[in-house]
Parts: sequence; structure tokens; C-alpha cells
Amino acid sequence: MDTIIGIDLGTTNSAVSVIRDGLPVMLPATDGQPILPSVVGLDGEGRLLVGQAARNQYVLTPERTVKSVKRQMGQDVKLPLGPQAYTPQEISAMILRTLKEQAERALGHPVRKAVITVPAFFNETQREATRAAGDLADLEVVRIINEPTAAALVYEPRSDRHERLLVYDLGGGTFDVSVVQIEQGVIEVLSSHGDTQLGGDDFDELLLVWVCEDFLDKHGLDLRELPTARSRLLQAVEEAKKRLSVEAYTELAEEFIAEKDGLPLNLKITLERRDYEELIEPLLNKTVKCVDAALHDARLRAEQIDKVILVGGSSRTPLVHRLLLEQLGQPPHFEIDPDLCVAMGAAVQGGLVAGIDVGAVLVDITPHTLGIECVGPLHGVVSPHLFSPIIERNTPLPATRSEIYYTGVDGQEKAQIHVLQGEDEDARHNQSVGKFMLEGLDEDATQGNEVLVRFELNLDGILTVTAVERATSLEKKLTIDNSLTQFRAKNRDEAKTKLASMFGVVEAAEREIQPLEQPQDAEVEAAIAEARSLLDKSRKIAAAANDEDADEIREFAGQLEAAIGGGSAEEIREIAAKLEDLVFYLEDA
Ligand code: AMP
Repeated sequence: MDTIIGIDLGTTNSAVSVIRDGLPVMLPATDGQPILPSVVGLDGEGRLLVGQAARNQYVLTPERTVKSVKRQMGQDVKLPLGPQAYTPQEISAMILRTLKEQAERALGHPVRKAVITVPAFFNETQREATRAAGDLADLEVVRIINEPTAAALVYEPRSDRHERLLVYDLGGGTFDVSVVQIEQGVIEVLSSHGDTQLGGDDFDELLLVWVCEDFLDKHGLDLRELPTARSRLLQAVEEAKKRLSVEAYTELAEEFIAEKDGLPLNLKITLERRDYEELIEPLLNKTVKCVDAALHDARLRAEQIDKVILVGGSSRTPLVHRLLLEQLGQPPHFEIDPDLCVAMGAAVQGGLVAGIDVGAVLVDITPHTLGIECVGPLHGVVSPHLFSPIIERNTPLPATRSEIYYTGVDGQEKAQIHVLQGEDEDARHNQSVGKFMLEGLDEDATQGNEVLVRFELNLDGILTVTAVERATSLEKKLTIDNSLTQFRAKNRDEAKTKLASMFGVVEAAEREIQPLEQPQDAEVEAAIAEARSLLDKSRKIAAAANDEDADEIREFAGQLEAAIGGGSAEEIREIAAKLEDLVFYLEDA
């Protein structure tokens, strides 16, 4: 039986996979990389370059490089590449041929047949062009399948159940969302929406603008106007962006990025995830609108979706996970590498065509969310028992994530880090897995002193929790060596007793300690800060006012406290305005 390889022929990146021992495996290039950038170029001597080498030369020699050819599949155009011009099929064939050779080297034998994936929105002409590209690369294309179908196949290779999946695919240059139905083993795309001009590249551009404007302010030089500096920075911001998927902040440092008055200039900037998220949120909101449109077209409500699957490198962005959870009411799945999922699904399809029994891919994941207890809005009131997730459920192991928290009062000298596992917003309903105290915080620091909490979970389920006071680097660690098994323990009480003896939990003493506060978005934070200063002022006025006025102030102040707990900037401002009017009137009186 001929081997049938599965190919994800992507706009930014491509990959190839095959079924081995009943499971899809990636076939990497000789450098070990499973991903091949979908870029074709000619070097100085006119030799063909496909992949990373072509991508590297793009900025310097765009006239000898072609990228994102997939956008032009099916069009009657010729793309210049050095002295000649080629059709999109011909350029795609160069990528396919490279993948074919990559597979042959990895397998050690010739390959003739392939399944190739295309976006669900591709029309017949675009599908035919893809098939033609396969022919030109000497591949018999046994099937062209939709990318979301491929993703569904990896998660549900032989589902007999009736299931509906939502596949959210955010790559480098494009976004697609599809609702897929599996019925008696037949997979059908019910609806599909997307934006062919939206992806991780846009996030890189936004970050680039931010970094360059900061540099312009500091040094009076616009790096965007210097091609070499720009291309170096573009790679640096992309790497920084990826780090922000894991870390709460990251440093971007590029030495000798430019020169001014004969002196070399260095670039150094700290990027915070919160600021980055604010920057990209409008773009992600567009994707959420597409999710709604796809559900609407499939005539389904969010709660009728059985599983949400993430595909594409940019779907690793934590804000994507949060927005989808908010919109769809269930945490998305990303346990199968979102960069490789589509190629693996194409291999599964190839295996099914070849009559191979394909099994489910098993990945070690965290079955429950891990996080800490902090102060924040819980059911509309400020509570010290808000559960703040750090490593989400379904995260593949090993996993590292960090978040920033804030001290709640001026001069707070210690903070309790209470680690829990579970899905409830109220930490008291989750399973405690350990706690410790970060003592010796800067006593001169005011409220809002930053504490970074990092979780590192290894393949054996050993969790290392590190808390660091950002300003002083004061650090404390705790290792919890059975963080996953504890939650699986059926008898909760038994587990609790075990934990209490392990960590010497002293409940009474800890109640005295101010826990940390959860991060707020900047607008809410500003509204809360204004409201707090108004509350201080109104207390002074109430003390001097007559009983009736004082009662009225107290009533509004109570409403304002509740609104602060609710965490809505709009509501806080609305009630603050009423209290302010009253204070203004009494002040004048
Ligand atoms: P794809 O087109 O699916 O290969 O996705 C490539 C895009 O995913 C690029 O814009 C990458 O910068 C982005 N990407 C890859 N890894 C991450 C990550 N860990 N966090 C955020 N974006 C990522």
C-alpha cells in the first residue's frame, strides 16, 4: 500500500505529516523543524530557496522572493521571481515539492500520494489550482480537504457520536472560523467565516509601531525608515509577542540597532502583556464577531457546540482563550499543537483513505485549571476569594505561565500565595494544593506594588510556584509534587488532610494577611482610582454634614463600593457622578 502523506499548505507556513503505528506524526526537515515557511526565493546565484532561507532574504531582496502565494491561488496572474514570472500554482508546487522531498528523506522511501488541505471558503477554481500544484510537484492528490475538517479529524478521528465543533483558526496572515458537524463518521462544514487579512503579522506590526514610537521619543530617530533595523525589529517583536503568551512581561533588547551622530544606539524596552492585549483587543473582537456570524449561519447557539478547537500559531495568545471562553461559555481545546493540527488531520484522512485504523492522539494535559486566590469582583462584590487562573485546563505539559498581581494596601509587607485547582470563580469551591507567604515586601511601597507569580508544571505534574516582588526581585518558591494527582483523588477530605499536614496550613494566622489583587484593565483601574479618591473626600464631608446628608452620602458610597466590586468602568463612573454631584453641592453649602 502506498504511503499517503498529509500536507497543510498554509499562507505563512506549511507542514507534512504521516500515519505511523496508527497515529499522525510530523515529518520534519533535516534541521528538525516540522514547519516550513511558505516562502520561495532565488539567491544571488539564481538558486531556488524554499522555506526559512527564502523568508530570511525577503526584506533585503523582495524582488527575488514570493510569499503568501496562497492568497492568489486560482487567479490568472504571474508572480515575478528574479528574471522569470510564475503562476501561483507553479510557486505552490515548489513548496509542495520541498515538502514531498522532506517526507521522503524522513521516511526513507519515495512518496507519490498526498492529501492537501485548503480553507473551507476556497471555491472550486482555488481547489483545482491546489490540485494542479500537487500534480506539478509529482504528487497524486488523493483528496483535497477543508482545514477545519482536518483539525476536527485529529481531535475526533473516529467519532460515531453526533458532535458539533467550532474550529477557530488564527494564523500569521489569515483568520477562519468554521462550525463542523460530525455525524456517523461523516464530517461536514456547516458554516465558515473569516478575514483573509487578519492574523499574527498584524499583531507584530502593532508592536513594531509601539516600540518604534518609544524609540523615536527617546532618540528622535524613526527605526521604521531604516530597512535593516526594521526587519531586525520585526523578528524581535515577533519573538517578544510569543513570550508574552507565557510571561506577564518581557524585555526587548537589541544592541546597536541604529546610529546617530556617529554613536551606536541600543534599544531596550519592557513590554507588558496587559498593554499588548489592549493593543490587539480590537482585532480579536473582530474575530469574535466572525464566531457569532458562523454560529448564526449554522443556526446554532453557543451552548449547542460540543467542543471548541484552536488552530494556527496565533491562537496561543491567552486573550484569545479568554474571549472565546467569555463568548462561548466553554474553555477551548489546544492540546494538539495548533501549528501542526491541520497537517496531522490531513495525515489522518490519508490513513483513512489507505484503510489504516487511526487512533486518537493522546497528549498529556492539565485536566483542571491552576491558579491563585486573590481579591477581586466575585458575584458583584469585592471578595478576597476570587480564583485567578494561571495555567488553564487543557494546556499541554510541560507548561509555564506567569501573571502580575498587586498589593491591596500601602506598606503591605507580606502576601499569601494560595494555589488552587479547579474551574470555579470562587476559590473556596476549588481544591487547595498549597500555600506560602511572600514576606519582606518593600514596606515603603504603596498599594499596587507588583508581584509576579509564575507557575511551572512539568510532565510529571510537579508544580513549581515562584512569587517575585518586581521592584526588588525578592523571591520565594514552593514545589508541589503531586498537583495533578491530588485533584484526581476522589475523597476530597482525605486529600485536604494530606495537604494540611504537607504544608502546615495555619488558617487563623493567614486570615490577617492581605491577599493580592487581581489585574484590572486600565480603564477600570482608572475609574476605581478616581472612585476611591472620591470616597475619601466624601467621608470627610459626611463627617461634617448633618445626619440626613451624611446618610445620603453613605448610601451612594455603599453603591459605589459595590460598583467597584462589580468591575465595570461604566457603572463605577455612573454612580461616582451622582456621589460627586452631592459632594459638590454639600461642599458649596
Ligand atoms: P501559522 O500561520 O498558523 O503558522 O501561524 C503563524 C503565526 O502564529 C505567526 O504570526 C506567529 O508569530 C504566531 N505565533 C506562533 N507562536 C505563537 C505564540 N506562542 N504566541 C502568539 N503567537 C504565536
